[in-house]
Amino acid sequence: MATTNTQVLLASRPAGWVTEDNFRIVEAPMPEPSEGEALVRNRWLSLDPYMRGRMSDAKSYVPPAALDAVMVGQTVGEVQASRHPSLVPGDTVLTDLGWQAFGVAPAKTLRKLDVSRIPASYYLGVLGMPGITAWFGLFDIGAPKAGDTLVVSAASGAVGSVVGQLGKHHGCRVVGIAGGPAKCDYVVRELGFDACIDHKAGGLSEALRAQCPDGVDVYFDNVGGPILDTMLRAMNLHSRIVICGLVAEYNATEPYGYRNLRAVLVKRIRMQGMIVFDWADRYGEAVAGLAALVASGKLRYRESIVDGLENAPKGLIALLKGENFGKQLVKLA
Ligand code: NDP
Repeated sequence: MATTNTQVLLASRPAGWVTEDNFRIVEAPMPEPSEGEALVRNRWLSLDPYMRGRMSDAKSYVPPAALDAVMVGQTVGEVQASRHPSLVPGDTVLTDLGWQAFGVAPAKTLRKLDVSRIPASYYLGVLGMPGITAWFGLFDIGAPKAGDTLVVSAASGAVGSVVGQLGKHHGCRVVGIAGGPAKCDYVVRELGFDACIDHKAGGLSEALRAQCPDGVDVYFDNVGGPILDTMLRAMNLHSRIVICGLVAEYNATEPYGYRNLRAVLVKRIRMQGMIVFDWADRYGEAVAGLAALVASGKLRYRESIVDGLENAPKGLIALLKGENFGKQLVKLA
């Protein structure tokens, strides 16, 4: 058993792109659980685009991560010691303990996971925050109908891959947008999308016309920026746009200047932002639906794994640059 606790702290706030210097790795004393708490050894750390927002002190829907504190994040870990009857050593739990090897938390804030049929790491991806976001964003906001054309950006990623597959099961024509031929190939051949457009190849408008001959009824936007601007022109009358994420803009120092917003008016597009927390009281509904699809092999899923907590900063930078291929995770020693 380790005697110290490796932690990754937020050392400074980035100006523009995140760098490894924004983090500091330290050894802290091993924490001890008080009455009602459990000590958890983290096994998997989730890396997510939202972390870039938390590193900044700009006003947002949640407060910024604190400087010189453990960087925020969800983990899946194993209970080592418990001072609450609901948890025993060996239990696998979902936590908000952040970028550290061990942590203590009140037992009531730790969700016990069933890992008998589902790999533990899936609770950070397809059965976790990204999968739940895909489920409610698509069904509650995108409101697709069978026969609709659905386009999703960052299509090979944690959220996008689930959105597209749910859309196919719902009877939509599904077109992905992803960066590079390998991701596009995966999206069509393995995930079963009808087509995928490589946004790095140029000519997005022409490709959209070719792949969406009847126009676009639902656009699930994970990226914002020039792709969203181009999509506005491809949308149908009374279509829907789900604003889920703006990853193309997270490291920008200037706001992106949208040119095609007029389309929202002229085509009466319903464009709505979403934050998954708003569905907190219904998470179980999405997890049950997603778990059934995963268990029956109807929902394919891929992970991009970085080894070792000390490499988490590199992993986050790679994710923000689009170098991940599927849900980005850190596997802890
Ligand atoms: P992904 O696994 O999709 O990784 C991010 C992907 O974004 C990259 O792989 C890359 O894919 C794409 N990307 C990065 N930069 C650009 C760019 N400049 N232009 C176009 N694409 C780019 O991450 P997630 O699935 O976890 O998250 C997807 C989005 O959903 C993010 O914006 C995130 O913030 C958001 N989100 C929102 C939630 C909410 O409650 N609203 C909850 C969860 C996630 P490629 O190589 O294919 O371009």
